[in-house]
Amino acid sequence: MKSAEEDPILKCPFCSRPIEEPAEIRTRFGNTFTGGRCECGAVYVYDRSGHNLGDAYVDGLTYACNGDADRAWSLTPDVDYEIVELGYDTRRKRFSDARRKTPTFLFIQIKDLTPKVR
Ligand SMILES: [Zn+2]
Repeated sequence: MKSAEEDPILKCPFCSRPIEEPAEIRTRFGNTFTGGRCECGAVYVYDRSGHNLGDAYVDGLTYACNGDADRAWSLTPDVDYEIVELGYDTRRKRFSDARRKTPTFLFIQIKDLTPKVR
């Protein structure tokens, strides 16, 4: 996988497919966020301001679980899902290193969507 630095196209960090422009998505709870879903199943959330990442995280994770908030909260980071935070350079229209207060993409990929018995 090439680094985001040398590639001007926005690509999913998990599968390297080009992603579509983020769109408004309405959640089951009636609020909206900006993001989308990659063909590989990863979801992404675009936070224009870069300082609502907590909300973006929750929205994205719930969306990744098809709206199942209980399931979203039962998941363990790095075990059940991976999350990648990428800064977005709006002038050059490409990913850059994630920094606070810059537009940010959060990518979340659930590793296994089948129920687990522990
Ligand atoms: Zn993908």
